[in-house]
Amino acid sequence: MEVLVTGGAGYIGAHACKRLFERGHRPLVLDNLSSGRPEFVRWGGLIRGDTRRPEDLAACFAGRRIDAVMHFAAFIEVAESVAAPLKYYANNVGGTIALLEAALAHGVRLFVFSSSAAVYGDPETVPIPEGHPLRPKNPYGRTKAVVEEILADGGRAQGLRWAALRYFNAAGADPGGEIGERHEPESHLIPRLLEAAARGEGPVFVYGTDYPTADGTCIRDYIHVNDLAEAHVLALEHLAAGGAGGAFNLGLGRGWSVREVIRTVAGVTGKRLETRDAPRRPGDPAVLVADCRRAMELLGWRPRVRNLEEIVATAWNWHRGRPGACAAPMSRENDAPPHPHRR
Ligand code: UDP
Repeated sequence: MEVLVTGGAGYIGAHACKRLFERGHRPLVLDNLSSGRPEFVRWGGLIRGDTRRPEDLAACFAGRRIDAVMHFAAFIEVAESVAAPLKYYANNVGGTIALLEAALAHGVRLFVFSSSAAVYGDPETVPIPEGHPLRPKNPYGRTKAVVEEILADGGRAQGLRWAALRYFNAAGADPGGEIGERHEPESHLIPRLLEAAARGEGPVFVYGTDYPTADGTCIRDYIHVNDLAEAHVLALEHLAAGGAGGAFNLGLGRGWSVREVIRTVAGVTGKRLETRDAPRRPGDPAVLVADCRRAMELLGWRPRVRNLEEIVATAWNWHRGRPGACAAPMSRENDAPPHPHRR
């Protein structure tokens, strides 16, 4: 299939492009490069453009036979979404509407959407099944939940065949070392720890040590980015074969605490990590663990990387291989007091 991949120059989108290519599909990336990197676009063409601009969308669809869309392009920082909600609704929701209009106008009905566990808010039950109530706690999560509703309406009215993949904590990097995770500023636990390990600097803050968990720190379900990429390709092929769409959780179905992650990073890198206990980060649920049975049963998805050591080892492989990995200044945010920032 010829697949338009919005946000294909970003962390997860680039891994999906590689997997699409390996499976014999042809990715075409649409990315405005606001956070994506052109050097991550290696498995197909790149159109530099924005999902909100009809002329950029026309450039993607005109003169091509696009079969499907994978939609990753979005803003992803929770704290920013709280401060600038309209920016988030305009891009994440407005951009998706414009993209859907263009896709449907060109007869494209297969749509795989990058959603998030942020649609759930504070879970009532763990592991969380897809049928759990959606109570997102911030504008970022609400943009994802709203788009899912739009997709469902489009499915009912316009024959859209869609899957919304709700990621838990994406982590790791492709072993090839060409693509990996890096945000500006970096807010995520594993890349922050690896940055600290690479530079011998710290501290990395532990946001909250009084949660009702065994060691008092938050528990998250980390899933290797290549297993996410694989789920996208399986979802696409499943939809193309007429399979049932809807929402799919993607995680490993088990969780690791922040302290366990710190120990794992220290073990994998062999570095001493300086960490400091800090207050809770507003909006962080104590435990987020996925019930992924739907993806396993319907898509035949089987995550291959099943332990945190291997996830961290692949991330470390990419991280320390980056030019300037040991020379760039540590993100300023990490030196600042703990900052509310949750996806
Ligand atoms: N976390 C932390 N220190 C950091 C970054 C994150 O203690 O510098 C914690 C955060 O509070 C959460 C977990 O690590 O409990 C994972 O956070 P991350 O931002 O990586 O992903 P999220 O779960 O917010 O999507």
